[in-house]
Amino acid sequence: MDTRFFAAWLEECARVVHEQREYLTRLDAAIGDADHGNNLDRGFTGIRQALAENAPKTPGSLLALAGTTLVRKVGGASGPLYGSALRQMGKALGDAETVGLAELTGALETGLQTVRRLGGAEVGDKTMVDALAPACVALRRAVEEGVKPQEALSRAADAADKGAKDTVSMQARKGRASYLGPRSIGHQDPGATSTALILAALRDVAVS
Ligand code: ADP
Ligand code: MG
Ligand code: MG
Repeated sequence: MDTRFFAAWLEECARVVHEQREYLTRLDAAIGDADHGNNLDRGFTGIRQALAENAPKTPGSLLALAGTTLVRKVGGASGPLYGSALRQMGKALGDAETVGLAELTGALETGLQTVRRLGGAEVGDKTMVDALAPACVALRRAVEEGVKPQEALSRAADAADKGAKDTVSMQARKGRASYLGPRSIGHQDPGATSTALILAALRDVAVS
């Protein structure tokens, strides 16, 4: 996976987030402040522009630029969390020109650690961690089994999707939704949902 692959991933994220922005915002309207779709749409539009203006040469520098852009463009909780995760993923990849599945898995695990460290959420708290953590577990297992990248990324996307759906029955313990207490139960978490979209985008660029 080279710089073009990662650029294609972020481009696909921007497309899907734009397409799903009303859905994401509707989820956030139920248990938050109805801005998640717009936040991410603004952030990924900014990433598109930044990549067009800078053309980073390595996967690591590309992800780092994307992360910095998200932190800068998105004020909500999700901007700093996703942005810092992407930055640390970029750092984890160093200046390699191509990245294998094992390195990508390691980078995603670094992203997960970053989100957990900054946001303090664990699995079960009804956040993006509930989609990202099972995706990392599925990817790690696939690496250990020697599964091909396409199949591995497909399993990760499925795990993230299932993780996002599993947030419906959870009570939020982090972020704005936690203010609702038990009333947060019965709604899918917007951040877990966008994480599932981002991992589906990764699967889709690997397949195409
Ligand atoms: P805001 O809540 O500031 O309006 P967004 O609506 O863009 O920000 O993002 C909300 C999402 O951010 C939530 O659905 C949740 O998944 C995620 N989130 C919020 N707080 C945390 C946290 N402490 N740790 C991990 N994820 C969090
Ligand atoms: Mg919000
Ligand atoms: Mg907000």
